[in-house]
Amino acid sequence: MPSRKFAEGEVVRGRWPGSSLYYEVEILSYDNKSQLYTVKYKDGTELELKESDVKPLKSFKQRKGGSTSSSPSRRRSSRSRSRSRSPGRAPKGSRRSASASHQADIKEKETRREILQVKLTPLVLKPFGNSINVYNGEPEHTEKNDISRKNKQEKVILSPEGSFIATQYSLRPRREEVTVKEIESKEQKRLPKVPAPLETFQVTTPQRKSLEFGGVPGASLIMLGLPACLFLLLLQCRQKDPSLLSFPPPLPALGELWEARVCGIYLLWFFIQALFYLLPIGKVVEGTPLVDGRRLKYRLNGFNAFVLTSAIVGTSLFWGIELCYVYTHFLQFALAATVFSVVLSVYLYARSLKAPRDELSPASSGNAVYDFFIGRELNPRIGVFDLKYFCELRPGLIGWVVVNLVMLLAEMKVQERGTPSLAMVLVNSFQLLYVVDALWNEEALLTTMDIIHDGFGFMLAFGDLVWVPFTYSLQAFYLVSHPHDLSWPLASVIIALKLCGYVIFRCANSQKNAFRKNPTDPKLAHLKTIHTSTGKSLLVSGWWGFVRHPNYLGDLIMALAWSLPCGFNHLLPYFYVIYFTALLVHREARDEHQCKRKYGLAWEKYCQRVPYRILPYVY
Ligand code: NDP
Repeated sequence: MPSRKFAEGEVVRGRWPGSSLYYEVEILSYDNKSQLYTVKYKDGTELELKESDVKPLKSFKQRKGGSTSSSPSRRRSSRSRSRSRSPGRAPKGSRRSASASHQADIKEKETRREILQVKLTPLVLKPFGNSINVYNGEPEHTEKNDISRKNKQEKVILSPEGSFIATQYSLRPRREEVTVKEIESKEQKRLPKVPAPLETFQVTTPQRKSLEFGGVPGASLIMLGLPACLFLLLLQCRQKDPSLLSFPPPLPALGELWEARVCGIYLLWFFIQALFYLLPIGKVVEGTPLVDGRRLKYRLNGFNAFVLTSAIVGTSLFWGIELCYVYTHFLQFALAATVFSVVLSVYLYARSLKAPRDELSPASSGNAVYDFFIGRELNPRIGVFDLKYFCELRPGLIGWVVVNLVMLLAEMKVQERGTPSLAMVLVNSFQLLYVVDALWNEEALLTTMDIIHDGFGFMLAFGDLVWVPFTYSLQAFYLVSHPHDLSWPLASVIIALKLCGYVIFRCANSQKNAFRKNPTDPKLAHLKTIHTSTGKSLLVSGWWGFVRHPNYLGDLIMALAWSLPCGFNHLLPYFYVIYFTALLVHREARDEHQCKRKYGLAWEKYCQRVPYRILPYVY
């Protein structure tokens, strides 16, 4: 039996066919008969390579920055990098059959080869910089991703790049790519077979994708349904009997809900928060890499904004300013915020029409209605002012805490109490802890789906500015006119539940954030991981080995603890926990879908190892 140099699962450098470029690859298997290694590139492309085209990582270590290519591509501008494709991806509109390529002249091949060298720069987008030490430092517990035995019999459809190297190598795309390639190849058959102009290599093809949230009908329904739902909830909550039997509540005239003074106060609130955001205090950090390899800078001063806001609220109370005005005009405030979020969404959509293509969100589709909803531009900024990042945590989240405080004061006034009720104190403190935690750990926001994946459109604008402050405060709003006497023993159980949820939520989020920040952190060395072809690894033990979304579990336990102080007389205060369960189940499915695309078989292996999504043995 012939001896071989590399083991299955080993991460090495593999030469990209037809070039002198080497990329990080994982050895999937070795075929004794053909003496070829099956390797997997970071984008999931599988190739068979000869042993002479595989080098150990060590042999590249002396190079700074992890660049292993001697090609001029490394010295090109970031613009050309942004348009680069990963190995194995064929540009649309440039396919030819193997026989046609056989007849192509040598000069054209040379030109193409040169272009490929410019374009094949997958290392640019590595989340932790271009260091090759990501793998070297993996703890011994690291499991190798044994994805070798799968996909053996998949058919290959060659791209032009592939066609001129097909004699030596066999290209094997990922399973999901086969379908796309087959469709593209069918389309190509209908086109006249002319040599593609070289520019086509530079154009990114619009992808056909299945739209989330039920596509255009779903997005339209949500855009109409959420504001309606919000107002029905608030109206229902104001009723003496908020039970389902008295649904629907009587509707007020629209004119009653609109008040210029309320709009002015809302705008003042928004712009004060914007001013706090612009203050040159707080650390500046970099976000995750964008498609062109750039990292945007973000100032972390959410907690400072919260302290300054508390000082303003405290001063207002000291001066005797009637904060209960917000309670008595709660619906008017909700309408002002809704109108503002719609105007903001229109502005966001309009400006996104001028945005360069590589600044659009991966979630955007090209359909105007859907994109208005999900957001077209990924990171809309006015100078250094990041609109999405600002709205995610500041006006709505801090606003929610202020609304809760207003409800506490209103309860004392309406119920003529000297002190707030125990139930109101619990609701206020639990939610205050949640908001302060989010602001304290503001940096974690930069790796969330909202920042990385979703654009800034109606969904986030309405969600952040209206839905959060006006529905998340529903328990406090409910308690103002529906008092509930909570006993201390029951309160202790609820506090224990809240703390339990918080510990799970915080530990799970912190563990993942620490791992993503530094996968070789010695404090995490005891955790088991699975390598993925992107260069990132997945945790399979610790909190992330318990269920696949331990942070969602913690969040849901906390949500229940926020509702329980309101007692069991009505369903209304449980709206949040019901809605939040639906939101997180849907969010989990979205994330699962994205992770499957990102990590392919490694994700499937993770799912086998950690079969439950959120709740062990149930879901
Ligand atoms: P998560 O913080 O759960 O992040 C999901 C990402 O984590 C995945 O895309 C993947 O990204 C990474 N990941 C998944 N599994 C692993 C693993 N095993 N090892 C390492 N990385 C892994 O997602 P969200 O942004 O949805 O949630 C963030 C927090 O915000 C949660 O606590 C959630 O409960 C909360 N939340 C609260 C809401 C509210 O209204 N109160 C609304 C939405 C969320 P990658 O591999 O690319 O790093």
